[in-house]
Parts: sequence; C-alpha cells; structure tokens
Amino acid sequence: MRLENRQWALGLQSLPFFRQVADVRGKETFHQPLMTCQSSYCRVCGGTELVLVKPSNLGSPLTSDSFAITDSHYGVTAAIYRCANCDFLQCSDLPQVLQFYETLEDSGYEVGRRERGLQARGILKVAQRLQSRGRLLDIGAGSGILVEQAAQMGYQAEGVEPSAWLHKMARRRELPVHLGTFPHPAAVGKFDLITLIDVLEHVPDPLDLLRNIAKQLSESGVALVVTPDVGSVAACILRWRWWHFRVAHIGYFNRQNLILALNLAGLEPVFVRRPSWYFTADYLWTRVHRYLPPLLRFAPPLFLSNLVLPINLRDSWLIACRRKTSANTPINTTVKAAS
Ligand SMILES: [Zn+2]
Repeated sequence: MRLENRQWALGLQSLPFFRQVADVRGKETFHQPLMTCQSSYCRVCGGTELVLVKPSNLGSPLTSDSFAITDSHYGVTAAIYRCANCDFLQCSDLPQVLQFYETLEDSGYEVGRRERGLQARGILKVAQRLQSRGRLLDIGAGSGILVEQAAQMGYQAEGVEPSAWLHKMARRRELPVHLGTFPHPAAVGKFDLITLIDVLEHVPDPLDLLRNIAKQLSESGVALVVTPDVGSVAACILRWRWWHFRVAHIGYFNRQNLILALNLAGLEPVFVRRPSWYFTADYLWTRVHRYLPPLLRFAPPLFLSNLVLPINLRDSWLIACRRKTSANTPINTTVKAAS
C-alpha cells in the first residue's frame, strides 16, 4: 500500500464504523473464549463445554421494556457463552424470560404494522410454494399481523402469543390469537403450516420448541423458521455491535447449528433462503445513525417516512422444513450432537 493511501486508511480507522470494518478477522477473534461455564449445557447439541465469549453489559435490572420487539440498544446483552462443540451462542444466565414477555407492551410495534404486514406476506408467499392452503399456526404471533395476512391468502390461520397486551391488540381486530405459549391447549390437532418468525432466538430451550412443532405438523406439513444468522457478514463486521445482539435475543444460530437443531428435533430442511424485511426509509436512517460518528448524524427528511423499502441484509435464515421420516436422507452438517 502506498504511504498516502495507508495514512488515509489509518485516518478512516479512527472513525468507529471503519474501525469495526478494519477489525474483521472472522469469528476466531470475534468469539474468543474468556472463561469456561460449568453450570449449564448447550441448548442445541447438549455439549457441556461452554466458554464465556462476551461478559454481560446489562446496566440495570431487566424489565419487560428490555424485551421490547423494537428495542434498539444494540450490543447490550447478558453474558454470552459459546458451545465448543457446535458454536451455538447462548445466554445461559437468563433461563427465565417468559415473565417479561407476558407483561410486554410495545406501541412502536403497532406503528410498524404496514411494513410488518408486507414482510409477513413475503414470507407466506415463500411458504405457499410448499403448502398453499390448510391450517396455519403462527408461534409468537404478536398482534396477529401474519395471521391476518395468512387469512387473506386463504389459510385457516391462528396464532399463539404470550404478551397480554399484544394479544389484546390482536383480539381487537378479531384475529384468532391465543394467549400463552406453544404448545397451547387451544391450538389442538395437526397443522399444515407452522411459522416461527424471529422467535427461536428468544426462547431458553429452542430444541424443545422445535420438537413440539414437529409433533404438531401434519404428515405433509411445513414448518417455516426465520432467525438471525450470527455467521453472516454483517455480524462479522459489526461484531458485538451487530443489531441482533440485544437483551431479548438469548440464543444465536449459524447455518450449521440451526440445521443441527432442526435435525435433532425431527425436522428436515427442504430449502434455505435469506429473507427480506420491509422498513420505512426514516427508520433505516435512524438505525444506521447508530453506527456513524456524531458529526455525520442529522434528522431524516420528512418524506422518508412514506417510503417503504424491501431490504435483504443477508443476516437471517429462512428455512422451510418437513417432518423427518425414516426414508429421509440425513442432512449433511459439519457439527454433531454431543454424546
Ligand atoms: Zn452445542
């Protein structure tokens, strides 16, 4: 590198964003062990060698507000441990989080109903290729946005949601959302399509949830799972400041251990995609600001609030699965369940 170019590059590295980009050296440095945890086990493979890779930086006692869907305190998490066997990242010290979801209220979530509706419709269009009709169950249904879209597309749709406030929002629109968690006594029988959109990263026992989903899928049923990808380029660049590192996310998958979890739960992936999300332009503007130096931050123009954009950041997985049968070929993955 010529001297002047090198000086220019070093100058850029004094800015936070460029420093993060320049620091990317892959997950070898990103997930360096700090110490070993001996009081827990991996919620995916059952491995017992967990290493602390990020200490907790929670500043105050947790409340339901800490778990808001629209929370933007990126990088604030409980202690994160990495499984030495399968690389799954989990917050082992936060096993009891349901209470926070039950009392959660999030008015900002409803403000984004239009964009979330577009997003739900896009996901359902993917699902339609495999399962175009029948009974649909949305787990973590919120205020029933996906249930509403699915009903419009011809599905016999219902949902399950633990937040009393979000459940009330759904019932106000006369949407069939049951208050509680899955499995739910009101969501009985088999389903042709079960959707789990941005839920798996919130639950203390993802494998148990996936196993219960497999049990309630009809013979030709499809499960659609969407969750952030901690192995994505965005996560590697932004490291612990990645927008998916937040209090509410207590489990972080990459492609390999997500497929491992699905397999162990009795589910066979049939296709894998990078899902798109929809945002208003002013929302994107304010979120990107967090990664810029203060001098470059200014208020978004008003017209941006009316502009909705599909964005594919390639930092989540969308995996469609069917129940495994004995005739299925095992999925090729590089990690195995710990014995
Ligand atoms: Zn593991």
